[in-house]
This record gives sequence, structure tokens and C-alpha cells, in this order.
Amino acid sequence: MDLFSDDSDPNTRPKVTGSCNCGRHKYTIPKAEKMNLCHCLDCRKWAGAMHSAHLFVQNAHIDGHGSPEPKTWTTNADSGTKMVRAWCDECGAGLWLKTDAKSDMTFLKAGGGVVVNDVGLGLFQPEDIPNPTMENWLKNKQPWESLASGTKRTSDVN
Ligand SMILES: [Zn+2]
Ligand SMILES: [Zn+2]
Repeated sequence: MDLFSDDSDPNTRPKVTGSCNCGRHKYTIPKAEKMNLCHCLDCRKWAGAMHSAHLFVQNAHIDGHGSPEPKTWTTNADSGTKMVRAWCDECGAGLWLKTDAKSDMTFLKAGGGVVVNDVGLGLFQPEDIPNPTMENWLKNKQPWESLASGTKRTSDVN
């Protein structure tokens, strides 16, 4: 099983829309089937949380609604892979992560937000987010954090 690619045809799935808190950045995607929780230190600083949750989406299936270019921060992972993390420079919400290792994909923040009546509510609706399928960088997990059930687990990135 490819941990990153979709199991079913994205064209047959319902579309869900998310946004940052202020609504400048908005994304419509086929409802995602895969989500990872990354406990690495770069994601934790980016998220301001103990882990960051990402939906795996093919670039070709993302409608960005003409969202402006976000602020980005580029780092090299321990593996040497280039990692780019983006956030809204208006409201500060994390938006997406891209990596050289999977250049056809975007790892959209599951907390990207849903828009109802043009007002961003700050999070994708719970029913629009799959259960986590993968947890990474468990060597950086806080000892009090519980693991999600049924996930593929790695000590570091992959
Ligand atoms: Zn925003
Ligand atoms: Zn990470």
C-alpha cells in the first residue's frame, strides 16, 4: 500500500472546502483518505502544537480559488529533502507543506478551515477529515501524548 496515494478515484469523492481563519487562502479538494500526524520539531514549531495534521492531496486535485502566494519557510530535513511550509501572513494559520520527495503532492493542513457563508471557521469540519493513517517522528512525541489507533508509525520521517 502506498501510504501517500489515494485508494479510491478522487473524482468520485465529495468535494470539501477549507480556508485559513481570515479566508484569504481557500482550498477545495476531494475529501481526503489519508492523514498523517507529524511530531517533528519543525512541524511542531510551525503548528504551535505538539503535532501537525496533514491531508495528502495530489496537486492536480486542488482548487486554490486564486488564493495569493502565502508566506513560506524552507528547511532541509535530516534526509536532505527540501521541505517548504506555508502560512497565511494575515491570520497566521498554517496552510500546507510541500517536499521534493513527493513533488506531485501537497500536504494540506487538516486544520486549514472550512468556509460557511464566506466566513472561515478555522477548521475543516470533523466529518471532512479522515482518521489518521500515519504518525511520523515519534521519537519527538511528547511522552504524555497518546497514539491514534490503526496508524502506520515511524520513528522519523518515513
Ligand atoms: Zn488567513
Ligand atoms: Zn513534520
